Amino acid sequence: QTMALNLKDYVASYPDFPEPGVFFRDISPLLENGEAYKQATNEIVDYAKKIGAEVIVGPEARGFIVGCPVAYELGIGFAPARKKGKLPGKTVKETYGLEYGQSALYLHEDAIKQGQKVLVTDDLLATGGTLAATIKLIEDLGGVVVGTAFLVELTKLHGRDKLKGYDILSLMKY
Ligand code: 5GP
Repeated sequence: QTMALNLKDYVASYPDFPEPGVFFRDISPLLENGEAYKQATNEIVDYAKKIGAEVIVGPEARGFIVGCPVAYELGIGFAPARKKGKLPGKTVKETYGLEYGQSALYLHEDAIKQGQKVLVTDDLLATGGTLAATIKLIEDLGGVVVGTAFLVELTKLHGRDKLKGYDILSLMKY
């Protein structure tokens, strides 16, 4: 039996990226290590099973990296929440504020079915703006968000406050 890895050993930290005052936590080392990526994915797979997720939604772009292997393992679908000008079909739109800047996310109207149980994934929970916008898109389409999963949670930015009432799995907290 192999020992569980300490996933924090696979997170790099960059002060003042992408702009002064932001302390950026980078998950690239975790993704680049097959065992660490697999361990993190397996933990989210177990969570997705527990909450009965039927489809996964992740915001561009690192939400795809976290969510897609989970969807593949479970044999369920993945719907990308994308930035402006990327989705060709009819979409719903949600504008939101970021830890740095402003943005909008879009979801194909037919991506989620009425009453479908949705797991939302992203690499990192900061202020919660991205996730709150993603949740709004899903609920606009009649989906039910049964859980949210992140590799990293920056607790000082209080993203949890924006996600009140939603279940949260975060594999690492800073
Ligand atoms: P929020 O909307 O919660 O403030 O910010 C979360 C979004 O911004 C996520 O999509 C995440 O990828 C990105 N983000 C914000 N801060 C960081 C950070 O320190 N590290 C990484 N990897 N992503 C960040």
